[in-house]
Amino acid sequence: MNQSMLKRTRSVMPSKLGVFTECPARYIFESEAYSIPYLPLHPRSLLGSEVHRIANILQKKGDMESASIIQQLEYNLITALTGTRWLGTLTAWVQEHYGVAGFVSRKTLHEQIRYAKSLTCFVSEPRKYSSEYIGKRKICIPTGREQLLTSALFNVSGRADLIYQKETGQIRIVEFKTGKVTDELNQPKENHLLQVAAYGVVVKELAPDINVELELVGPHDSWTGFLDSTLNDRVTKILVKLNEMLPLNIPFSPNEIAQPSGHCIRCSSRCSCPVYKEKMLPNQCNDNFFDYDISGKLLAIEGDNYLSDLKIELDNGLVAKVFRIPTQMIPTKAKAVGAFLFLYGLRILGEKKEGCFPRNFFVFDVHDPKRSAFQFLLQYEDD
Ligand code: SF4
Repeated sequence: MNQSMLKRTRSVMPSKLGVFTECPARYIFESEAYSIPYLPLHPRSLLGSEVHRIANILQKKGDMESASIIQQLEYNLITALTGTRWLGTLTAWVQEHYGVAGFVSRKTLHEQIRYAKSLTCFVSEPRKYSSEYIGKRKICIPTGREQLLTSALFNVSGRADLIYQKETGQIRIVEFKTGKVTDELNQPKENHLLQVAAYGVVVKELAPDINVELELVGPHDSWTGFLDSTLNDRVTKILVKLNEMLPLNIPFSPNEIAQPSGHCIRCSSRCSCPVYKEKMLPNQCNDNFFDYDISGKLLAIEGDNYLSDLKIELDNGLVAKVFRIPTQMIPTKAKAVGAFLFLYGLRILGEKKEGCFPRNFFVFDVHDPKRSAFQFLLQYEDD
């Protein structure tokens, strides 16, 4: 397939509905496996699936010594990192020099182990299917851990973390997350809500009369709600829109479906998105928190075989410095003075000043490697 065209070939993924509402092009970039450059995964993003794996092990083996669970979790993380094609060069480099401690603290590992232990109480389910009689028709709702839910109506397919039927008859759908599940207003985070509600819509397709409860569980907070008619209608409209806007196997140019905005800085495909490069990057993007993207001409490069610093002339004529890039991450052609570079996912050095675009950035944090720019990517003009 022509890599400049985008095509949906898979059923709708509930976990990516929030992404679709922000940008349909990003939805396709993230749900299809294109062989294009992506920003690397942050290594801590693999923690979630490994914590679930540990919860399953604890359920089977019973409680274990904390030290051996930590060892197991560290081993699983390293295995998962080396097994993913999204592993970043910086992550590999930090792991080689600092091990797991280079990207996740002991305190976080202990917290996640406590969380994994708390999940084991959810694990045992007496039945695999809950039977409901709707009129004369008997329908089966899958219950248990990681059950596949598919919708013929909306062409949805996904695995809910846990589905069970309460004694009162309602179906409860639970999603476990390793980060916060609510925002500063104590409301469920939009992408998590759309995901768990989409599973609810599929269950309602199987059994329209059943009441569906939704639950989001994280290590530090949780949220419980209902799939009421307002939420059901909202999610249904999004599913209809996705199917209409992105019909299966029809190619689109990113320009037709991209919706560039401030959210682009969270998009791991932005280094391959022509719309982002044309409309957003020249304005020097940042997410107001951590990550910055810049582009410009290389004025100077200094350093040794271990770490290098770059001086870049930005499009607006200002000069920015990027400190401590592992030298092996810089392609030879990008080291030539005058080369035009794109640098994604930089961290800001020092305090951010209101109204001023920062000019000093870093990639590797020598004092605290965990704060390094793990999603950093460098491209040069003829990439
Ligand atoms: S960079 Fe922005 S416009 Fe491009 S795919 Fe990502 S979110 Fe969409």
